[in-house]
Amino acid sequence: MKFGALLLFAGLQVALVHGDIIKVHHAHGNNHARMAKRQASASGSSSGSASRSASGSASGSQAASGSGTSAASRTPPPLDTSTTIPPVASISLGMPTKAPPSYTASFAPGATPPIAGAPKIPKALVKTGWPPADKVPDPSSPEVQEWMKELEGFTIPNIPPTKDGSCAGDPTAASQAKQHGWWTCGGWTRDTDIAACPDKLDWGLTFDDGPSFYTPNLLKKLKATGVKASFYAVGSRTIERPDMLIDEYMSGHEVGVHTWSHPSLTMLTTEQIVAELGWTRKAIKTILGVTPVTMRPPRGDIDDRVRAISLAMGLVPVLWTSTADGGKFDSNDWRVAGGEFPGQKSVDIYNDIMKNASIIPTGFVTLQHDLFEITVDLAVGYTLDSALSHTPKFALQPVGHCQKWDATELYRETRKNTSFPYTNTSRGASIDIDGDGQMDAALGFGVPLWTSLLALTSVLYAVSL
Ligand SMILES: [Zn+2]
Repeated sequence: MKFGALLLFAGLQVALVHGDIIKVHHAHGNNHARMAKRQASASGSSSGSASRSASGSASGSQAASGSGTSAASRTPPPLDTSTTIPPVASISLGMPTKAPPSYTASFAPGATPPIAGAPKIPKALVKTGWPPADKVPDPSSPEVQEWMKELEGFTIPNIPPTKDGSCAGDPTAASQAKQHGWWTCGGWTRDTDIAACPDKLDWGLTFDDGPSFYTPNLLKKLKATGVKASFYAVGSRTIERPDMLIDEYMSGHEVGVHTWSHPSLTMLTTEQIVAELGWTRKAIKTILGVTPVTMRPPRGDIDDRVRAISLAMGLVPVLWTSTADGGKFDSNDWRVAGGEFPGQKSVDIYNDIMKNASIIPTGFVTLQHDLFEITVDLAVGYTLDSALSHTPKFALQPVGHCQKWDATELYRETRKNTSFPYTNTSRGASIDIDGDGQMDAALGFGVPLWTSLLALTSVLYAVSL
C-alpha cells in the first residue's frame, strides 16, 4: 500500500502537469511497486538494504503526502521548459518534468521493413475491439479459447499459480522454487531461457514497458549513436501508441512480447497467461505485420509452467543476467521513477554492471525501461554514453543479434529455421535434469554457474600466489 500510494502520488504529479499521462504512470507504477516489494523480500543481503531504503523512502512520502487523494492537492513539480537532460543530481521523483516530445509517425502504412521477406507495414491500427488496457484479458473470449489449442500436444507442468508472484507471499511455492525453475525465488533458469549473450563483452541492451510518451527521446538517442536494442512491449501500450512501435521495428530494433497488462505471470491461471501473451502477440502482429518469437516475463517472474505455455505459443523467454546476490544486471532505473532512490544511485548501479560485465566470461543482458521520463532521461543523458565510452569496449546490440540469430529469425512470418523456437522441452529429460539452474554456455548463465566461476577464479588466484 505504501508503494502504491507513493506511485499514485507520482502519477498524479505528472498528470497534473500533462493531463493524460496518469494512466500510464499509475498503472505501471503500482506494478513496479509490487515488483519492488518482491525483489526486496526475495533475496539476499543487497536486496535487504534496498528494502530498508525503499520502505524508508515510501514511509517518508506517505507521511508527507498521506493518501492518494490528498496527494492530488499537493503542488505538482514545475514544468521544465529546457531542452536538455537535467543534471543527474536532479533526477529523482518530483523533479521538474518536461512535456513529452511532440511525435508524429515516421512511417506510413505500406512502408517496407528492413527485414528480408517481411510484409509491408499494415494499414493503420483500428483501436477498438481490444481488451481493456492494463487488465488481464477475459480468458473465456473466443480468441483465448482458440489460442488455448496451441497448448495441445505439449506438456504443461501442473504447477499451481503462486499466490502473488512473490517468495514471501507464497512460502510453499518458494520452497519448491528450484524444482519448478522459479526465477523470482533464487534466479532459477532453464536451457530454453535466454539470460545472457554468449560472447564476452557482447551487451544485450533491452528496454521494457513501452511504448511511452518519452520513447521517442530514446529512439532519437539510439539513432544518433547507431545503437540497436530489444524492446519488450506491453500490449496495452502498443494499442495506445502503435506508431512508436512501428518506429522501433522500422529502425532495426528488435520487438518482443511483454504481456498485455504487466502482471506477474506465475500467479495467473494457464488461460490467463495465454490471454496475456496472445493479445500482445496479436496487437504486435496487427501493428507491424509480424509475430515476435520472444517474450519477457514482467519482473522476470517465470516458472516451468509459464515457460511451457510461452514455448508452446512460440515465444522464447528472455530474462536478464543475474548474480547470486540478485539483480546486478538490472539497472534499477524504475526504482528512481518510483522514488526509492535518486538517479545517481541507478548510474552507480550501471557502473557496477559494467565492472561485473568486464570480468565474467560471457556477454550479458541488461534491463532498462522506456516507460518513464526519468528512466529515459537516465538512459539518454547518462547510462548509454557511459556504456559506449567504456574500456574495454562493449558491443551494444539487441538480444537476438547477440545470440547470432539472423534478423529474419525474430518473427514467425520471416523465420527460415522451422525448428525455432524450440519445442516444449522445458522439463524434458535433456534439459537441466537435476534442476540446479546450470545453463549450457551457448544460451544462458545460471546463478550457480556464476558462483562456481567466482569460486574457481579465487582458487586459481590463490594458486598463482
Ligand atoms: Zn516490465
